[in-house]
Amino acid sequence: MTERTKYLLAEDDIPTTWYNLRADLADAPSHLHPGTGRPVTVEDLVPIMPRALAEQELTGEREVEIPEPVRRLYALWRPSPLFRARGLERSLDTPARLYYKYEGVSPVGSHKPNTAVAQAHYNKEAGARRLATETGAGQWGSSLSFAGALFDLQVQVYMVKVSYHQKPHRRLLMQTYGGRCVASPSEETEAGRRVLAEDPDCAGSLGIAVSEAVELAMADPLTNYAPGSVLNHVLLHQTVIGQEAIAQMALADDYPDVVVGCAGGGSNLGGLAFPFLGAGFAGGPRVRVVAAEPAACPTLSRGRLALDFGDAAGLTPLLRMHTLGHSYVPPPLHAGGLRYHGMAPLVSAAVEAGLVEAVALEQSACFAAGVAFARAEGLVPAPESAHAVEAAIREALRCKEEGRAETILFGLSGFGHFDLSAYEAHLSGALHDAPYDRAGVAAALAALPRPGRG
Ligand SMILES: *Cc1c(COP(=O)(O)O)cnc(C)c1O
Repeated sequence: MTERTKYLLAEDDIPTTWYNLRADLADAPSHLHPGTGRPVTVEDLVPIMPRALAEQELTGEREVEIPEPVRRLYALWRPSPLFRARGLERSLDTPARLYYKYEGVSPVGSHKPNTAVAQAHYNKEAGARRLATETGAGQWGSSLSFAGALFDLQVQVYMVKVSYHQKPHRRLLMQTYGGRCVASPSEETEAGRRVLAEDPDCAGSLGIAVSEAVELAMADPLTNYAPGSVLNHVLLHQTVIGQEAIAQMALADDYPDVVVGCAGGGSNLGGLAFPFLGAGFAGGPRVRVVAAEPAACPTLSRGRLALDFGDAAGLTPLLRMHTLGHSYVPPPLHAGGLRYHGMAPLVSAAVEAGLVEAVALEQSACFAAGVAFARAEGLVPAPESAHAVEAAIREALRCKEEGRAETILFGLSGFGHFDLSAYEAHLSGALHDAPYDRAGVAAALAALPRPGRG
């Protein structure tokens, strides 16, 4: 019998529902209205998002049906493949079995279109004309531009300035799909102008870019805000990843002891891991879940679990999450998608409940892992995904040390073809680790909002 390395599902196996972890958490956190301090309602959210998505954001239902048009669009790239990483296992000489779920097969090369096409579908149905959003490395901006093109919606993207200049190809991809992309902070919004007045050279941050996009959505009734991560409904949409992975692990006649993902806002990690947690709640085996984050932006490892804004200007509801402070501007990192001050409230709640562990990794170690993975498996990981690769390698080496044949599943959230200049910096020795900015985080934590007094 030949050993299989690839586990494929058929189009009919694309899940028909999304899984909502909120249903299985004892204390699912609410978002709070910053003015009243009371839980946010659907009516509070409808000025900036369609009612269907506002309801998904707040629902406690366990299963949410995936609309048939969304499933049909998923079929453009789903089900995504699951691979046994035999080359990596050999190169590490580990007794562990390593598997990865590869989301780089989507049209833009990451998991983000899983929610982009769903959000575009509901916005089109609700009569929106334009979507406004933020993007870090450009993965979300290109995903939403792709979805906007499919649904004939205009897309306005505020791209973090440092990435806008580092990653011109992602911007060109957005423009190819018809999206409009400006560097953030921009002169086009009050939030952007305020930051530029204080610091004309500001490198930008996801938190600032969110403020610009939300401001535009609030000002124009035909424009809605489309979040790329963090919010409950985004993580909900991403659970197609983990549901497929459960079916594929069954094809492999195996089941993970450990599930690993990188965590910026938490959407690919939640998408992969939450269905496994749900299966555990339903009586199945328990898995360890490991969230890999950058040491220079260690939201889960060193942030505070508190109520904070999702954006720099304080326009969003208060989210109960691990945060470095909404006013904190993380240092420039090549994994731009992991450069966010906060974390998905559902991931934070899962950490608090002991269901998810965090590990903080230096970017140099992650690029080394990305190179090792490329040479062993053939795929070049996105810098974000390389954090998951490095965390999985550490788990595999622990198994080797302990002589344990555990099964490790990790999320390869995207490919790194647009990030080769970062790989060049690594290969030429020019890539340095940004130190953790203890003082900057302390100052931002001292400026956390106090609900009910706004
Ligand atoms: C955006 C992005 C991430 C980080 O976002 P999450 O919401 O934490 O998943 C990770 N990997 C890739 C490839 C991304 O594009």
